[in-house]
Amino acid sequence: MDFSLFSKLAGIASAPGREELLAKEVLAAVKPCCDEVYTDRLGNIIAVKKGKGGGSKVMVAAHMDEVSLKVRHIDDKGFLYFTLTGGIDPRTLLAQRVLVMTEEHGLIPGVIGAKAAHYLSAAEKAQGVDAASLCIDTGYGAEEAHKIVSVGDPVVLDRTPRELGGDLFTSKAIDDRVGVYVLLEVIKNMPKTHRNDIYFVFSVQEEYGLIGAEAATFNLNPEVALAIDATGALDTPGMRPQDYVVALGKGIGLTLSDSTTIADRLLSKHLIKICKEKNIPYQLRVAARGSNDAKVMQRAGGAARALALSVPVRYIHSNVETACKSDVDAAYNLVLNFVSGDFEG
Ligand SMILES: [Zn+2]
Repeated sequence: MDFSLFSKLAGIASAPGREELLAKEVLAAVKPCCDEVYTDRLGNIIAVKKGKGGGSKVMVAAHMDEVSLKVRHIDDKGFLYFTLTGGIDPRTLLAQRVLVMTEEHGLIPGVIGAKAAHYLSAAEKAQGVDAASLCIDTGYGAEEAHKIVSVGDPVVLDRTPRELGGDLFTSKAIDDRVGVYVLLEVIKNMPKTHRNDIYFVFSVQEEYGLIGAEAATFNLNPEVALAIDATGALDTPGMRPQDYVVALGKGIGLTLSDSTTIADRLLSKHLIKICKEKNIPYQLRVAARGSNDAKVMQRAGGAARALALSVPVRYIHSNVETACKSDVDAAYNLVLNFVSGDFEG
């Protein structure tokens, strides 16, 4: 895994509906090595690698957005109140740094403070964290805050990626910057000649409800669809092995079913065959919860053979998402072998 490329991608602020900073990086990377690259009105980037003819139309997607907040009120002292986008546990927001994505003043740093422990009453200590009472301190007073920040500005978590021990790494937005990373590496390294037409889609607004991928699928109408996304790994203290769903370091997750999608059987068998032939570590994933772009890729066009490849991530949707490099490598190897092959949809 090229950790410096991943870090560069993960460090970019890319809230749902405001993916333009990451889109710029993606466009610069894919334009020199694709047959066709275009951006639709929603902001999805479609990068096409044409096959030699007679093959299937394959869509491979990863989402560019990340979980975020949105400014809903600026109070008379300049503090910013916000809503949550994409399933963030408010407990994870206490004492965190954030970046406000303003329209005209760029990224404005701020902090979500917590009342000092010395001053907490017993009742406050016992209480959970209510997102509605949290606010962002940018340092600006009311007059300046109103000039710089606007209601509706998204806010993303601010955290530098770091390597941990044991092949692990931590960052904000591993979900789904690992997917974007895998697609970019596959586009760069795939063989010139292959049978299928591959439509790489860098989708937008996944965390707001799979919006970009739905529109892109409707327009492309693929026969085969793969979503590369992060998924929660529960192999942490307090959990039982039978409840892990996926675990770090055990390979790429092949999602057979989650709360909204049953994977195509032909496609899952084909992917398992590639993993066995190429010695790519994989784990079968059956999840009672969760969803991803595979849901809409399966049904928004004319019915595609669809499956999600799920990179295991601990502490998902937080500032300290944690994943394993060898799982990302497994995802890369599987996607590379798949798009180079001749699976028929
Ligand atoms: Zn995701």
